[in-house]
Amino acid sequence: MPFSSRIFLLAVSFLSICVFGAERVAFTKDDAAYAYKIAKDFVADCTPRNAGTLRARLAASWIADRVSRCGVDADIDSFVDETPDGKKKFHNVCVHLKAENPESPWIVFMSHFDTAPNVKPYFEGANDSASTTGLLIALTAAIKRAGGAKDYNILFVWTDGEECRKDYSPIDGFHGSRHLLDVFLKKKRTIRAVTCLDMLGDKDLNIMIPANSSPVLKRAALLAAKRIDLGKYIKYNKEADVMDDHSAFYNKGFQAIDFIDFEFGSQKGLNDYWHTPNDTIDKISQESLFISGRIVSEYFNIIDGRYKNKK
Ligand SMILES: [Zn+2]
Repeated sequence: MPFSSRIFLLAVSFLSICVFGAERVAFTKDDAAYAYKIAKDFVADCTPRNAGTLRARLAASWIADRVSRCGVDADIDSFVDETPDGKKKFHNVCVHLKAENPESPWIVFMSHFDTAPNVKPYFEGANDSASTTGLLIALTAAIKRAGGAKDYNILFVWTDGEECRKDYSPIDGFHGSRHLLDVFLKKKRTIRAVTCLDMLGDKDLNIMIPANSSPVLKRAALLAAKRIDLGKYIKYNKEADVMDDHSAFYNKGFQAIDFIDFEFGSQKGLNDYWHTPNDTIDKISQESLFISGRIVSEYFNIIDGRYKNKK
């Protein structure tokens, strides 16, 4: 592209931010490289990061630091919750991009950052938490770059305590998302969409939207992928419910959806790397994070209404 065209495009994009407040989000190859680097560094610096331990608290600070490098402020929301082993402290990392009108509904993105505690001898959680930790940071940067929030408040949350200590129950697992739901209910916030991202770095990417996802968001997700010719990487599974960080919101009747690759394994259709020592950094790729990031960004453009002003 000639230099003058580039200047013209930059000027148009700057003007569109001035006129419309926010432009469509484009998740680039550089964003994917950034997401991958963060995932790799996170595994190297913050393994293990089991909920309720000092290392989870350090991991939360690590994420807050990386997020702040994108020019946004991150808060750590610490809270105490009951577990099968008594009360434990958890730490959600939160970034809020404020809408023009503070009363606007909320769009929430979540990815858990804690590791499954009972995997022996060692669990990196490269796909199961590091991949989407990186993806969510890169997505935050991409949305910020595209003008940030406009019609909706946008909240990014790196949740703690998604993994259970023993068996999932009302006091075991999903501590961060259940706490977040309490906050939303107490503050009487209106919700546009709650979106959970989980295990989206798998080299052999097969994103699933489970049955326990809101139909309107499911349609937006599938439409987004189709629009950018990535439809083959995502499917709706009307047979399978998946318990994940979106569940508390979904079960309460809010619009909520899960993007998860639950075929993380040694062969097509298998999930045999999940919650095993095989969940290592060599199983994830920058290319998959690029595909996931583009689909999720396009989905965001649809649910945020970034198409309605400009088409
Ligand atoms: Zn897990």
